[in-house]
Amino acid sequence: MKSDPTFLRDLHVGAEFDAQLCMNCGTCTALCPLGIELMPRKLFRRALLGDREGVLGQKDTIYSCLLCRLCEANCPAGVHIAENVRTLRVALNRELFGLAEA
Ligand code: SF4
Ligand code: SF4
Repeated sequence: MKSDPTFLRDLHVGAEFDAQLCMNCGTCTALCPLGIELMPRKLFRRALLGDREGVLGQKDTIYSCLLCRLCEANCPAGVHIAENVRTLRVALNRELFGLAEA
């Protein structure tokens, strides 16, 4: 994995990204109706490590999130999961399509 410190800085632009509060407990994964093991805990970890390629390579996962907040309502750390996913979408839209909005 190649760490890119500018990626985390980019994620903070125009949005709240509080993934650092994540305790990696797995509650979100257990509750997510999509059953995607990657999201959100592993996805957020990659983002926090500056793994730009690792995050952007998961674009199908990021766009598939329903933003239903079922995970967020039960997160013991109070992570704003849906907003974080939206932030990752903004980054994807910017990097892949040159768009500024989600
Ligand atoms: S439920 Fe919250 S604290 Fe637990 S892994 Fe998911 S985001 Fe992290
Ligand atoms: S907001 Fe996204 S990650 Fe969370 S439970 Fe819903 S579909 Fe899954």
